[in-house]
Amino acid sequence: MFHFTDALSGLIADIAQRVPALAHVRPERTLVFARRGRTGADGPNATCHCLTLPTSEPGYYFWADAITGSITRRSPWFVTRSPEVIVNGTPIEYMISVGLPRFADQVGRRKLERYVGLPPWVVRLDTVVHELYHIAPDASGLRQLARADGTLDQRTHPPRFFDDVRDLVLAYLETAPSPDVLEVVRHDFATLQARHGSVVGTTFRDGTYPQRYVHVLDAQPAEPDVLVEPLKEAPGRARFTEADLVVRDFSRARATTPVRAA
Ligand SMILES: [Zn+2]
Repeated sequence: MFHFTDALSGLIADIAQRVPALAHVRPERTLVFARRGRTGADGPNATCHCLTLPTSEPGYYFWADAITGSITRRSPWFVTRSPEVIVNGTPIEYMISVGLPRFADQVGRRKLERYVGLPPWVVRLDTVVHELYHIAPDASGLRQLARADGTLDQRTHPPRFFDDVRDLVLAYLETAPSPDVLEVVRHDFATLQARHGSVVGTTFRDGTYPQRYVHVLDAQPAEPDVLVEPLKEAPGRARFTEADLVVRDFSRARATTPVRAA
């Protein structure tokens, strides 16, 4: 049995230890989980989810008269919040999710052009480092890069982002990491499954995962004094713990049923 997300957590800890520019990544506060993602289907190979963003300013949705612009209806006042994720007593600050088997089967030919002379599996390592590079050095949210004039670039992926990631991947490989640690990115899904019999990963129960949610204010301001329509969003979950995690079998041609509690 190959535990994909545990192996990925091990790789992340090794990268954080060996690459000074990623030393701010705290593996114990970074939860890796898997989601189902078919090879060849649209969707991310991996995603960095930030749980440290502050609660938003209070606000409301509204409908306005097209001619006068005055508000005719509105939602209740609400804020958006990040849920708390506490695993065995440790607060989680970031989550890295991977789509399986998609992550293990990514080809990324254009990405590979950035790595002349290196084997194709380096694109998977690039994806891992890419997600880690999204973690802001002060854990305040997602990294923003400064432009040449010193102002912040509002784009999530300015061109420099990809160059920085490549430099960090090369810096990590320079440290000659252990082949055991790299196993999780060195092989495609079929190879991992053939070597280990099955591939499992930690995931959230019920196919959901912690996401920013809407919280309706307990004390509702009376203004603006128009018809108030209830919010359509289902109420979000404020807190997740290890009880929400399960280890699932992601092997091909087999049912993805929980095999044990995480
Ligand atoms: Zn990204």
